[in-house]
This record gives sequence, C-alpha cells and structure tokens, in this order.
Amino acid sequence: MTTSPPGSPSTPGSTDWSSIDEIAGVVRTCTNCRLHSGRTNAVPGDGSPVASILIIGEGPGFNEDQQGLPFVGRSGKLLDELLAEVPLSRKGVFITNVVKCRPPDNRDPLPDEVAACRPYLERQMELINPKVIVTLGRHSYLRFYPDGKISRDHGKILRWNDRILFPLYHPAAGLRNPAIKRDLREDVLRLPEALRESLKIKSATLPEADEVPGRPEPVGVHQPTAPQAQTSQANSPEEANAGGSLSEPVIGNETTEEKGDRQLGFF
Ligand code: SF4
Repeated sequence: MTTSPPGSPSTPGSTDWSSIDEIAGVVRTCTNCRLHSGRTNAVPGDGSPVASILIIGEGPGFNEDQQGLPFVGRSGKLLDELLAEVPLSRKGVFITNVVKCRPPDNRDPLPDEVAACRPYLERQMELINPKVIVTLGRHSYLRFYPDGKISRDHGKILRWNDRILFPLYHPAAGLRNPAIKRDLREDVLRLPEALRESLKIKSATLPEADEVPGRPEPVGVHQPTAPQAQTSQANSPEEANAGGSLSEPVIGNETTEEKGDRQLGFF
C-alpha cells in the first residue's frame, strides 16, 4: 500500500512540479514506496538545474543516505576526478539516481520501486532539459535501453529520442577493476564530443513519460556493433562487475567502508 505526498502525480508523466527544488522537497517527504521506511535521507539530486549534462546513477548508497547527496563516497570522488579532466565540475552538471532512497543492504531496487520513483526522474529530465544524459552502470543504462549491454556500449554516443545518451561504467566498478577504470577515463574524455553531437539535434522535444524507451541510434563516428539479441543478464565477471546484481560474488569480502561507498547497480 503506497501513499502519495501532496502534489504528487497519480500516474507517471502527470507531474506539475515547477522546479527542481520543488521536486526535492517532495522527494524528501515521499512515502510512495517501501524504501522510505529505511532511509536516513532521501537523495533527490544535486547540481545545476539548467545543466546540459544530466548524470544518472542507480540509487543512493550508505554515504549518500547519510548525507542526502549523490555520489559522496569513494566512487563520487572518482567521478569528480574524471569530470575534472574534461574539465567539468559538479556545479556544471546535475547528478541524480533512478531511485531516490537507499534500498536496504544496497540491494537492487525492485521494479515497483523504480516505477514509484519514476515521476521524479521524468520531471527532473523535463525541467533540466539536458542535451546529454550520462548513465552510470548497467541498471541506469537499461532504464533507457532495456536491451543494452554496458560492456559493449560504454562510451558510445547514442541518440535517444532528441537527446544524446552516453552510457558509462559506474565509477565503483572502476574502483574495483583497473581495466574498467581505464575505459571509464577514456570514455569520460569523450563527453565534449557527446555535447557537440547534441548540438546537431535541432529540436529537444521530450519523450512521453509512458513511452517505452526506444533503441538508441548511434551518432558520430563511433558505431556500435550490429544489434544482436541481448539479455539484461551479466555474461561475464567483468560484465557483472560493471553493472550486475549486488549479489554477484565479485563483491567478495567487501568492507563496511566499501559497501558504504558504492551506489547501487554496478557490481
Ligand atoms: S524511492 Fe522514490 S518513490 Fe520510493 S519513497 Fe523514495 S522518493 Fe519516494
């Protein structure tokens, strides 16, 4: 049984929140799914409300839940370092997650939790109107491209409706795997190219909130491999480490600090 906060929509896409701050206020008191009961703080997102780049992770981890801010642990520090190489700072982008409250034990958010939180992300996308959407990790990417495969598509400049979709490995996966960290760094350096490609898209009409996300089209010189039948399951340890279930064995003897540092949906 869920409840709706004042002003919340009854269906995704029917939101009428007028600002990012207003959404944040609603999120902080939201009880629309079971995740509200275990949170210390909801994490609506942080950054510029007029950013050209919207970065979307999966969900808050321990440190994020404690501070109410996205990506504030070790993976956040790596993200900051990578953005600085472009150069970009947090003030120049907006960072949020698919779900705004931390799932217990950092498990994957359940489909009904993602659905309950979807209106907030949809409205954030509408209001910010970013030219480039950067997804971090497999689960965030799959929200836009259910047949996607992060080990294949990371760093590719894709067109999603009238925006650029730029999937990246999750920084936490980079902390675990030097090869992924190297790929992540190389990919982030292509962000300016992704922005340039976005400027070629004349209209920025928004997708209907209920629209099933379509298959992104590659743009620019970097073509993806021919589309093949894909599943959303991780096929290899690297894939799993890049964005698989939290129950994957690669987590191994994770320390409390590491557990707190990571966000969801990337290993
Ligand atoms: S995860 Fe989203 S829908 Fe669920 S309680 Fe938090 S803000 Fe509300």
